[in-house]
Amino acid sequence: MLVVGNWKMYKTPSETVEFCSALAERLDGIEDVDIAICPPYTSLADAVRTLAGTEIAVAAQNVHWAEEGAYTGEVSAAMLRELGVYGAIVGHSERRQYFGESDETVARRAVAARAAGLEVIACVGESQEERESGQTELVLKLQVEAVKDALPDGDVVLAYEPVWAIGTGKTATSELAQEAHAFIKSLYDVPVLYGGSVKPENAAELMGMPGIDGALVGGASLEVESFAAIVEAAYGL
Ligand code: PEP
Repeated sequence: MLVVGNWKMYKTPSETVEFCSALAERLDGIEDVDIAICPPYTSLADAVRTLAGTEIAVAAQNVHWAEEGAYTGEVSAAMLRELGVYGAIVGHSERRQYFGESDETVARRAVAARAAGLEVIACVGESQEERESGQTELVLKLQVEAVKDALPDGDVVLAYEPVWAIGTGKTATSELAQEAHAFIKSLYDVPVLYGGSVKPENAAELMGMPGIDGALVGGASLEVESFAAIVEAAYGL
């Protein structure tokens, strides 16, 4: 099981240090669950430093495809590696929705990240409109195949995040999530995390489904207690 916290644009460096110290203490002794947090770029160095010597890894929320260059506002995989960051999310729906991210740019980011030795968590998921118009499988197929074509060796983790469930409190039922995960795995047999309003109350049921290999947690990863409770729900599954 892998539990990843995506902080989005929350927490300053000092808030990060406070959170990471408390989380490390709270999760001391937890085994058999891989844990990562994804703070904003400005907090990555502090997170890496504060979590050094713990089992909790630090990943970025995005990464650029070029090694370096005239890409104002972007950060390369080598820059992240030098900080001690272990991986990066690519293709989060908020990036696709607000920043013009496409299947093509997601694939390019994923390839560059792997080439530099970062682990990749690539997000896929349908919008409410796409689900209602019966396009879920088509959308997932296009998104998953873009990642598979870019990284055919299976060296990637996918996250199924139905857009209608992100930050809305509307979690997919475990059956609906399982169905989507099974479909994704039929296209590309790699670990698939579920994301979309995962909370301590629904985490065990979701992660207990056979096709669900962990969770990508947004809102509930911002409080030590709720994130720790989700990690504990994954323990022993
Ligand atoms: C996310 O940001 O990846 C996410 C799933 O958010 P939330 O848990 O808040 O729905």
